[in-house]
Amino acid sequence: MSTGNDRNQQLFDRAQRSIPGGVNSPVRAFRSVGGTPRFIERALGPHFWDANGARYIDYIGSWGPMIVGHTHPDVVAAMHAAIARGLSYGAPTAGEVEMAEEIIRLVPSIEQVRLVSSGTEAAMSALRLARGAAGDGKGRRKIIKFEGCYHGHADSLLVKAGSGLLTFGNPSSAGVPAEITQHTLVLDYNDCEQLEDAFKTHGDDIACVMVEVIAGNMNLVRATPEFIQTMRKLCTKHGAILVFDEVMTGFRVALGGAQSLYGVQPDLTVLGKVIGGGMPVAAFGGRREVMKHLAPLGGVYQAGTLSGNPVAVSCGLATLKLIQAPGFYERLSAQTGKLIDGLVAAAQIHDVPFCGDFVGGMFGIYFATNVPQSYAQIMATDKERFNRFFHAMLDRGVYLAPSAYEAGFVSAAHDDEVISQTLATAGKAFAAVAAASPR
Ligand SMILES: *Cc1c(COP(=O)(O)O)cnc(C)c1O
Repeated sequence: MSTGNDRNQQLFDRAQRSIPGGVNSPVRAFRSVGGTPRFIERALGPHFWDANGARYIDYIGSWGPMIVGHTHPDVVAAMHAAIARGLSYGAPTAGEVEMAEEIIRLVPSIEQVRLVSSGTEAAMSALRLARGAAGDGKGRRKIIKFEGCYHGHADSLLVKAGSGLLTFGNPSSAGVPAEITQHTLVLDYNDCEQLEDAFKTHGDDIACVMVEVIAGNMNLVRATPEFIQTMRKLCTKHGAILVFDEVMTGFRVALGGAQSLYGVQPDLTVLGKVIGGGMPVAAFGGRREVMKHLAPLGGVYQAGTLSGNPVAVSCGLATLKLIQAPGFYERLSAQTGKLIDGLVAAAQIHDVPFCGDFVGGMFGIYFATNVPQSYAQIMATDKERFNRFFHAMLDRGVYLAPSAYEAGFVSAAHDDEVISQTLATAGKAFAAVAAASPR
């Protein structure tokens, strides 16, 4: 197609004049893979269509929320009904109570929960709450996070590791004062020894440890069970609050989230993505003892004009209902498994070093010989080959995350036919990768 008829390119040109970089969230700009971002017009089930009318099999699912597939009729009907009753009241509703009860029932570590509008807001609020509630309510300043984990873009979480081990972090974004990140210790993911050392050195100053139990923002990297058990043990011993950021993994890897797979209970959990079903709903919740520090009960302030918005909540509730269907996660997991096994087999045929991993409806693909276990191993995967593969798939109608460092998502609408179409396409894409960069 000539650029003259390319509606995606026309829209991107226009967008760049009025929106910084042409997008409202950076990864959408395709900077990592190059080329023209697709502007999406509509979506149904496992597919979406761009401004040129081209159809794609969608493996980002709005970066996680669309677990039941796009435009599910039950979700759309629930939202239509909610819209007819009003868009927002700024006063409490029964839907919010139902949503809170549902979350508490499905995630046993959560005794109380508060709804907000984005994962960033939820993580930022959980952090403030942890700092306010730690140390028997007297408060603490220092926090621990891990390289490669993303918890939204609050100032104290936009941090990269300092120059030495156990030195506090440096801002990873312009506009974040070093005075703020100096309280954030950034450690290596899956490194138990560093964690032990950090608590030995700073133990009684540490307010919380925040972690993605299955990391999904450096591609997919699983925590080892030992890593998670070690942080639980150290937090308990030192009176620090353990925060699991399950914005991505919550209701995605299993009905009870990643914590149900590891059998470890955090003090606080951060949720988002799936619980909104595609609308802006996120949440943070946990032990009553911790949550009681939140205003209006306690001294930790947090609020939101659109928190618990009735239309957004109706979408989230309808989605939470659908994922509780018997066998939902077994089927989802089986489909993701077929995808990953098929991709690995196709890569082998073309002698391309490649592997994959998946949990429930979330997957990682790596142009590497072994499944990575750390940020360093992720950074060592072959980005050139990924980018070739990405474009070869995109040109043939399969939309993967436009970066080698993001996880992918399968929905309940990805049936056998969709998976086998994907694998047939992948065969051609791996052949193109092999031809362009022989081993
Ligand atoms: C997506 C994500 C966030 C941020 O959520 P937003 O809704 O984009 O603000 C935080 N933590 C994790 C683990 C995420 O995957």
